[in-house]
Amino acid sequence: MSQKNNNRHNNQIIKKTRSLLIAGNWKMYKDHNEAYNLALTLKERLADISSIKVVICPSFTSLHTVSLALKGSSLLLGAQDVHWEKEGAFTGAISPLMLLLLGCRYVIIGHSERRNLFQETNKTINLKLKAVLKENLTPILCIGETLQEREKGNTELVIEDQLKGGLVDLPAEDVGKMVLAYEPVWAIGTGKTATPKQANDVHIFIRKKIEEKVGQEIAKNMSILYGGSVKPENAKDLLREPDIDGALVGGASLNEESFEKIVRSGIDLL
Ligand code: PEP
Repeated sequence: MSQKNNNRHNNQIIKKTRSLLIAGNWKMYKDHNEAYNLALTLKERLADISSIKVVICPSFTSLHTVSLALKGSSLLLGAQDVHWEKEGAFTGAISPLMLLLLGCRYVIIGHSERRNLFQETNKTINLKLKAVLKENLTPILCIGETLQEREKGNTELVIEDQLKGGLVDLPAEDVGKMVLAYEPVWAIGTGKTATPKQANDVHIFIRKKIEEKVGQEIAKNMSILYGGSVKPENAKDLLREPDIDGALVGGASLNEESFEKIVRSGIDLL
């Protein structure tokens, strides 16, 4: 059996080569008081966690209260979106600097809900990536195919197109600072999860494309998260895969118990 398969099937010998990152995307749930309370609870429940990066991404209106709640903990703050301009007449928009000053370290960019419901394109995603990197924030770039695209056998084409368009003119050094999240659209909020092998195969493909663009060293060290109905019941099997370096969690991150269990599934693999 190859080393790769060994890693997949034998719990005893798994060792992650990259550090794990678990991010919770709270979407448009929780007002600023509820978000504060949940963040405080997570801070207490995850107080012993230092070997895994844990990022919490509440809505814009909760960033301030959540940053207050997380003070003194290793949990990190992230936003769910951003605008690419520094400032100006852009009603309703939020700049990277505004996020930085609120204590954000991460920004989710190109989530499928932004792409599909808010007409976000690879072009605007590319602008956002550049703007965020300029402020030393870490982008979590989401990519993934729809069910129709998968059934047509176009998964790799779609992923390649999203990577190519999203990463236009980004120097290798900047690509190396990013986190990627493979989120098959058909698995987001649907209860359907990609099997660990399905997900890992796409992660391997993504890493190969990154390697072609910016070289083996950066590709080897890049964190590629999986997202799509990650729950306590399936987290360990997904995280155990050699090319899955963490999870972007939607629904299950809104509950302290399930989010804690997901984070602890990762700890068990280190
Ligand atoms: C997400 O919002 O990025 C996500 C993966 O959602 P869920 O875990 O609910 O499928």
